[in-house]
Amino acid sequence: MRAALLYEFKRPLVVQELSLPTLDADEILIEVEACGVCHSDLHLADGDWPELARIIRKPLILGHEISGRVAERGSAVRDFEVGDRVGVPWLHWSCGVCEFCCEGNENLCARQKITGVNVPGGYAEFVKAPASHALKIPEELTAISAAPLFCAGVTVYRALKQARICRGQRLAIFGIGGLGHLAVQMGKAMGAHVIAIDVSEEKLRLAQSFGASHTIHAASAELTKVLRDMGGVHMALVTSASKAAYDAAFACVRPSGTMLVVGLPSENISFSPILMAAREIRLQASAVGTRQDLRETLQLAAEKKIRCEVSSRPLTQVNEVMEDLRAGRITGRMVITPC
Ligand code: NAD
Ligand code: ZN
Ligand code: ZN
Repeated sequence: MRAALLYEFKRPLVVQELSLPTLDADEILIEVEACGVCHSDLHLADGDWPELARIIRKPLILGHEISGRVAERGSAVRDFEVGDRVGVPWLHWSCGVCEFCCEGNENLCARQKITGVNVPGGYAEFVKAPASHALKIPEELTAISAAPLFCAGVTVYRALKQARICRGQRLAIFGIGGLGHLAVQMGKAMGAHVIAIDVSEEKLRLAQSFGASHTIHAASAELTKVLRDMGGVHMALVTSASKAAYDAAFACVRPSGTMLVVGLPSENISFSPILMAAREIRLQASAVGTRQDLRETLQLAAEKKIRCEVSSRPLTQVNEVMEDLRAGRITGRMVITPC
């Protein structure tokens, strides 16, 4: 099979032939139809996050927003038939018995395996996955439109669900990229008044088309004033990988409001303790999602409450796609297809 491999941080991926993965009894082999290119793949390929760079086994096949069809199943697999449409998320496997798994937070499992980080991902023609952690794709969704839900979609869904956003609340979304454009639609579906902030006019137009009631350029001198004049926001969801977005977001949260930490800049973020205390600002971080979060996300898409703005390019162009994402030239999500 063909796959794109990361041999060294900050070096282009190398597309080459590999043998097919061999299956354990509880695994399925998936013929990949689409794999989203998430900004996390750029952080991983650049070695941005020392905590994850340590557990990466190179050469590595990146890619954790996978959709495809079951090509083969291990002898113990009962839930899938060959030909079934499935997706594989970031959370490749969780133990099911630790404190976090038992509490319903399997995304925090200390023994978890991560697709495209410490097990091979989906920038390939085939990938294998434990049948327990692959999810069926609703028939309403194409492979290309479903793939980004397996990270971008589920991540913002969980962040907003955990934050318990309420009807009528003001939600500012900083970063209208792969994650952010889905968050705009989810915020709308949950009844929030959505304000979209980005450095790109094109992405702001996309946010508006998906129902954002205000759009503001991140470089606007008026940004803080406009949001404060509204009374501040109940929630600021930062999906940008830029520290500047966190600084701007913090200034806009109303007293008792929440900063949702989702975008993952390589530098630390910091906030003034006195301003946090004086306004009783809450900080809530979110890590992708559980299988249940993912089922709910897929359901929202099947019901047409959210729609991924998606385009595709072949696997052979993966390095160009990553460059485009790095330069902010991708609107919505780009997925790569094996051919
Ligand atoms: P993306 O590149 O598609 O989107 C980022 C957006 O931020 C772009 O539209 C860009 O124009 C915008 N942006 C850049 N600077 C900005 C600024 N100063 N203010 C406002 N917007 C700005 O990336 P993505 O795939 O959506 O991922 C975004 C981030 O989320 C990455 O850091 C990624 O690693 C992280 N992520 C986190 C989780 C999690 O579980 N917490 C899961 C997936 C991705
Ligand atoms: Zn991702
Ligand atoms: Zn566990």
